[in-house]
Amino acid sequence: MEFALAPTEPRNAQSYPTVWDRSDLRVVCFDIDDTLIDFTSASRDALATMIGRDDMWPLWECVTEAHVAMVVTGELDYPTMHRKRTKAFLAELGRHVSDHDAARFERSRAAEMRSGFRLFDDVLPCLDWLRTAGVSIAAVTNASGSHQRAKLDALGLGRFIDHVTIAGEVGAAKPDPMIFHSACAALDCEPSQALHIGDRLHTDAIGAQSAGMRGVWLNRDGQQDTEGVAEESGVLRLASLADIPELVVCEFAQLGAPPPR
Ligand SMILES: [Mg+2]
Repeated sequence: MEFALAPTEPRNAQSYPTVWDRSDLRVVCFDIDDTLIDFTSASRDALATMIGRDDMWPLWECVTEAHVAMVVTGELDYPTMHRKRTKAFLAELGRHVSDHDAARFERSRAAEMRSGFRLFDDVLPCLDWLRTAGVSIAAVTNASGSHQRAKLDALGLGRFIDHVTIAGEVGAAKPDPMIFHSACAALDCEPSQALHIGDRLHTDAIGAQSAGMRGVWLNRDGQQDTEGVAEESGVLRLASLADIPELVVCEFAQLGAPPPR
C-alpha cells in the first residue's frame, strides 16, 4: 500500500492530533544519519575545510561507501576502515600519506565534523509528538555504537530514545532482518507493531518492510523512484518528519481510530 504525502510546511507540535488509539503501533524506529542528524552537510563541510576545496565530496562518498561495505562484512573494524578510507581518498588526490598521517587527518576531520552536527528542523517536534502519544522510540544504525550514542547525547536526543540498536553489537547490519527484530525485541513488540523510518530506500525502508515492520522511506531530497522499486515494495514515503503524525494516524486509524475530541 502506498502512502505518499506531498512536502508540507513545518507545523507546530501543538497543531498535531494529540489523542488517538495506538493499540497496534507500539514502537517507531529511526535511522540516525541523514534521518535525525544532518550528517552529510557536516561531513561535506568538514572535508572541504580539511582539503581546502569543495568539489571532492562525490569521490569521498564513493571511497567511503566501498570501505563501509568491508565493515559490514566484517573484513575491517571501524578504526582500520577510517584510516584505509582516508589513505585511499588522499591517494586519489595524488597525496600518498603514512598510516600515522592518515590517522591524524581522520582525527582532525572527525573533530571538525562533530562540531558541525545539527538536527534537521523537523526532528524535535516529531519526537515530542511521538513521546506525547506514548509510542516507544528506537534508533537503529549501522554506524559504530560509541560514535552514535555520543552524537545522540550531544544533540539532546537521548531523552527521547528508549533504545539504540547498533549493528556491530547485534552482529547484523541493515537491511538484515535480524537488526530490526533485535530492536523490536528490546522494546518488547512484534515487528508488525513497529515502523522504521530512514533515508535509504533499500537499507532502511525495504529492509524494515522485509522484516515485517512498516518501512518508511524519508526522501528529503525528492529522489525519483525511477524504477518503481519503492512503489513495488509497498513502503511508505515521506518528504519530512513533519508528516509522521499524520501518517501514523492515517495508517493506523484502520486498527484504532482516534477517539472524538
Ligand atoms: Mg541514514
